[in-house]
Amino acid sequence: MVSRYENKDLSQAGAMTLGIHSGTVPDPVTGAILPPIYQTATYAQEAVGVNKGHTYTRSSNPTVLALEKRLSALEGSNSSALCFATGMAALTTLCLTLLKQGEHIICSDVVFGGSVRLFDDILNKYGITVSYVKAEESHNVASAIRENTKLIFIETPANPTLKLNDIAAIAKISQKYGIPLAVDNTFMSGLQKPFELGADIILYSTTKYIDGHNATVGGALLATNPKYIEEFNFTRKTIGTIQAPFDAWLILQGLKTLDLRIKQHSENALAIAKFLESHPKVAKVVYPGLSSFPQYALAQRQHLKGFHGGMIAFEVIGGAANAIKVMNNVRLCALAESLGAAESLITHPASMTHVNMTQEQREAIGISEGLIRFSAGLEDAKDIIADLDQALNQCV
Ligand SMILES: *Cc1c(COP(=O)(O)O)cnc(C)c1O
Repeated sequence: MVSRYENKDLSQAGAMTLGIHSGTVPDPVTGAILPPIYQTATYAQEAVGVNKGHTYTRSSNPTVLALEKRLSALEGSNSSALCFATGMAALTTLCLTLLKQGEHIICSDVVFGGSVRLFDDILNKYGITVSYVKAEESHNVASAIRENTKLIFIETPANPTLKLNDIAAIAKISQKYGIPLAVDNTFMSGLQKPFELGADIILYSTTKYIDGHNATVGGALLATNPKYIEEFNFTRKTIGTIQAPFDAWLILQGLKTLDLRIKQHSENALAIAKFLESHPKVAKVVYPGLSSFPQYALAQRQHLKGFHGGMIAFEVIGGAANAIKVMNNVRLCALAESLGAAESLITHPASMTHVNMTQEQREAIGISEGLIRFSAGLEDAKDIIADLDQALNQCV
């Protein structure tokens, strides 16, 4: 008997409903409302060549599959998803699938530090080269295209300076030249729809807003063209980058509240950004929801629902010495790498996430020694502000 819950119709469902109901049904055996964690390496087969769709967890796992279905339902655009052990495992799988020796990537100049490390310290060894371009002027992407360019990879907002890239404008270029465009959408999980703007592939670090509770590390790749999913799947099972079932299960729980959380992260971030802008010890605040944001019009166009995410970049007066003072004096906010979870986190890119670059390399892309990256959590905004205020007031 097919359970009536299998017949639920989510075709018109909104983001909250999809986050809670897509990809899973109450367990047909026990009625358990949450899906089981299929903590298994292998699957017994009925006969040679007869199985129930899974053969070995390096290739696929029902709990991971449930998360993949939920992620693709939320992304829409008839997309499919694959989940990975980390965001970096997803990016590694993407690059090893689309590129071979002698080929070339165009990457926006400000991206997650780990992505730069993968490109410059690992892929370079195998003869894959990368051009970093100021992609906010989309014509720079077009001018960097070579005969051997096989991937355009952008992040927007960029980590950590929050400058934006115009996905629709860059997608026009990628389509004209027939080069796939991949967007790292981590910062705007649930608030930016790259497929609707013409991108081919979306990368997530699910570690961040998608899990949202600092409980797991994980990554995902989504695509609308099944050819990419098939190829990524082949690479994933070959190099072994799939996500563990327990982590997938935890992320399934996190996804239920993504739409709620991302709006609250955004509201908190806007309140904190406004507070920082008015603080005498703060020299500069960058947040896409502030009218002072240089690309405010693009932010309004590209981000959904009038929300701009939970990430803020700011500089205190007095440079690195005072920045370090702020970071060493917060008590509610944690000095920690990562972002996008319930706990507010504060980071010093120059000494933490972007420490592998030289000071000159950092300065060329706007990461000053005094820049602070702030991930607004879900605590009451007034409490976060009070903590930042007492830490800022220790600056000289
Ligand atoms: C964290 C992060 C990654 C890498 O993801 P991991 O899960 O840490 O491997 C990639 N891109 C962005 C924008 C990130 O914030």
